[in-house]
Amino acid sequence: MRLMNSPDLTATIDLAAIAHNVGVLRDTSGADVLAVVKADAYGHGAVPVARTMLAAGAAGLGVARLPEALVLRESGIDAPITAWLHTGSTDFAAGVAAGIDIAVSSPRQLDAVVAAARAVGTTATVTIKVDTGLRRSGVAVEEWSDFVDVCAKALADNSIRLQGMMTHLACGDEPSNPLNSAQAAELDAAVADLARLGITPQAVHISNSPAALSRRDLSRDIVRPGIALYGRTPLPAIGDFGLIPAMTLSAEVALVKKVRTGEGVSYGQTWIAQRDSMIAVIPAGYADGVPRTLSGQLRVFINGQPFAGVGRVCMDQFVVDLGPDGGGVVEGDRAVLFGTGADGGPTAREWADATGTIDYEIVSGIGTRVVRQYVGGARSEVIDDGRA
Ligand SMILES: *Cc1c(COP(=O)(O)O)cnc(C)c1O
Repeated sequence: MRLMNSPDLTATIDLAAIAHNVGVLRDTSGADVLAVVKADAYGHGAVPVARTMLAAGAAGLGVARLPEALVLRESGIDAPITAWLHTGSTDFAAGVAAGIDIAVSSPRQLDAVVAAARAVGTTATVTIKVDTGLRRSGVAVEEWSDFVDVCAKALADNSIRLQGMMTHLACGDEPSNPLNSAQAAELDAAVADLARLGITPQAVHISNSPAALSRRDLSRDIVRPGIALYGRTPLPAIGDFGLIPAMTLSAEVALVKKVRTGEGVSYGQTWIAQRDSMIAVIPAGYADGVPRTLSGQLRVFINGQPFAGVGRVCMDQFVVDLGPDGGGVVEGDRAVLFGTGADGGPTAREWADATGTIDYEIVSGIGTRVVRQYVGGARSEVIDDGRA
């Protein structure tokens, strides 16, 4: 991957890797892919990533909130988009007008969507999100019969059309957890319940990334992966499933200088040079998504060589030890903070493991100062989205 001539702090997104990962998910799950691009495509940049996924065969897109869906629509994407997290102040009319599939979690949300459809003067597209055990969003068991009444009326008067029925797994990352099959059975029962009233959704879906990759028996019409599309295995103990990580975070070396034996580096001077050394300043800090708790634990690759981060990670920068001879590093060289790991270089998973989290949090936390650069697409280009 070409990293030269990039803006000085860059998340390089390999669109060919993303297209490849869509194929892996389709083949492994045996189902169509509703590609989850919430949270700015897990930090990768929603619009270019969504376009790539659709071109690679994804059947539709999924996001949490309606404003995320509207951004995609306004960019000219006319594929099906489902949004599933709403509040009392959500502007459902805007979603209905834009033809977004609104996944509802209560009779009250469905009432609000019906009112919006009437106000807009059209039929709303709706998915029913059923809570089968995650106990987060989704129609609760206690509200199911009320919900069915509202739904049957709304369908009868053409306020809504039923696009989907979905549920979300609590323990999808534990493939053999019995809860997975139990949740699927609950959703199937809800689908059967509506079928008895003559109500049939276009598509039923359950599986997130780990289920799509490990529980083909849970694939219904569509699977709903997120993290695996970005090339990150949700089941590291099982393997990488041939997925290719799409994001490489890199920065230009801002400054190279000498420190003498006994001199401290960065806030608190938590690292003291044990010998005369060269250090490099890397212009990326915790405001860019480099966890401060990785102070003293980072390793970066510069010109294919590993170097250790030393001292505190600051808001905007951190320091690496280049050793007594400077390792041949000069200002303007590029430091890879994490990438595919294929060359033995650092990975987002290492950051996650070292900070007690998951790589979902690392990639979605890459900040807005980091310029997203796209390679491997039909046309490689730097997209400066104006946020940097
Ligand atoms: C985020 C999300 C997904 C995707 O989950 P991954 O673990 O990233 O595959 C699927 N469905 C819902 C409802 C989600 O919120």
